[in-house]
Amino acid sequence: MAYMHEFPQDQAEPELEQALEALDPSLLDIVLVEGFKHARCPKIELFRPEVGKPLMFTHDSNIIAIATNVEASELPTSAAVDIPLLDLDQPGSMVDFIIEYLKQHKTGLPANAGSKHVIPRQPSCADDEHPDMFTVSEARQKILDEITPLAASERLPLRQALNRVLAEDIVSSLNVPGHTNSAVDGYALAGNALPDSNTRDFRITGTAMAGILFDGSCGNGECIRIMTGAVMPAGTDTVIMQEHVRLNDDTITIDSTHRAGQNVRQAGEDIAVGDTVLQQRKAITSADLGIISSLGIGEIDVFRRPRVAFFSTGDELRSIGDGSNRPLKSGEIYDSNRYSLYGMLKRLNVEILDLGVVRDNPDDMKLAFDHACSVADIIITSGGVSVGEADFIKDVLAQLGSMHFWKIAMKPGRPLTFGHINDSLFFGLPGNPVAVMVTFYQFVKPAIHYLGSGTHHTPLTVNATCSSSLRKKPGRFEFIRGIYNSNNDGTITVHKSGHQGSGILTSMSEANCFILLDEDNAGVSAGDTVRIQPFDVII
Ligand code: AMP
Ligand code: MG
Repeated sequence: MAYMHEFPQDQAEPELEQALEALDPSLLDIVLVEGFKHARCPKIELFRPEVGKPLMFTHDSNIIAIATNVEASELPTSAAVDIPLLDLDQPGSMVDFIIEYLKQHKTGLPANAGSKHVIPRQPSCADDEHPDMFTVSEARQKILDEITPLAASERLPLRQALNRVLAEDIVSSLNVPGHTNSAVDGYALAGNALPDSNTRDFRITGTAMAGILFDGSCGNGECIRIMTGAVMPAGTDTVIMQEHVRLNDDTITIDSTHRAGQNVRQAGEDIAVGDTVLQQRKAITSADLGIISSLGIGEIDVFRRPRVAFFSTGDELRSIGDGSNRPLKSGEIYDSNRYSLYGMLKRLNVEILDLGVVRDNPDDMKLAFDHACSVADIIITSGGVSVGEADFIKDVLAQLGSMHFWKIAMKPGRPLTFGHINDSLFFGLPGNPVAVMVTFYQFVKPAIHYLGSGTHHTPLTVNATCSSSLRKKPGRFEFIRGIYNSNNDGTITVHKSGHQGSGILTSMSEANCFILLDEDNAGVSAGDTVRIQPFDVII
């Protein structure tokens, strides 16, 4: 029996167990499902290197085999592969494997097998406790999948459009350059009059300047003195640089080393009439301002900037400048996340709305979210998404919109909430100051960029020689704060910047890059090559 069910868009997909309840177990011996990669059942991992996804079996003990098109030695893992590998191109061998597996595990079926528990369970593992555990790249992709880029645009004077995203194609109504002109200061003449050997003299009969047309024409044996940018006079197609002639009273002498057509810029050689010079969704650079102005265009349509509202949550937080001069009470801290968030947002193409500190109680939070989603495209909070007693922000959110509460296999910044509240996107970042920054750069920044531009680009990473040794177990992605040096010989070295606790903001301040240790990494020895993500490129 094949069972397919399409769920309405606004309805979350069911858990595997819920989906199984729709089946009549009395009719079934084996249930094979596709997808549900976080379900707690025996699973065969499909791995094809060309898809570019990391292997999951190292941190999911429910995976009983890997179906792949490569050899064990070609799998991207340093862990010894001790589970069966199935040939992706031999479906029959997969069938045999599944039947053999079921035979071996049949005795392990619960007594009530055939009612709810059609699936024999594996011993529990970390993933069993966290069915919403994702890798960094999975979470990033899931976020992008849920974003529809903003469509509204506004018309701006050219200079104000710097860094904004084009909402129209820029089509040229001009040739640039508009006329064939000289690329150098020198003498314009007819290319077919150049001497093949020896030298030849030309009589100077006029001058052409940039912006001042020479309206005569150039006859046989004549040349015109010409300046850079001046329109080529009638009868000329070649310019001899002034440094390459011998100047006599009213003639020049040139030798036979010149080429017809040299030192001339053709009309339209950069941009021709009708060319689409810049395409919609291009971020306007300084060069683009130059190009657009060269077409005589003074105003352009750009997409509206995303509006981002943010607030901090926590009863322990004091806002600086809140008007009270009293010292911090024991247990209180100043809210710093709103300041680092402001700094990170200020660098982006967004309108920023700082909504202050909100106390850890459901009524204040609901009010804050209601307000935020009425004014912003994106709402960012920090704090309150972990499992602490007062962290009921989750419950409030679950009531307000469609939410995902993710445990991301990363450090720092494991818990992350992402979802929608009405039409606004919501990011609930962890409270710890460094975790806020790491999750912002890895998840929120690409989301803002995609919302505002409809484009996504992978941030630059480069290889560097690490002079620190770094301890790490495989399984999660670690972002180490690092300091890189770009050496004169073109090599890059990096070392970690002090203590790496997720509350230690000073090591973030000293850092100029993240050292990226991906899920498979099992530690770094001094001298190893690591990948780094320089801040001045990603920020
Ligand atoms: P939470 O996620 O709310 O449990 O917070 C985790 C840690 O981050 C706690 O030590 C908080 O006091 C701290 N924290 C939360 N929000 C902020 C903030 N806005 N500024 C500075 N520290 C914060
Ligand atoms: Mg808190």
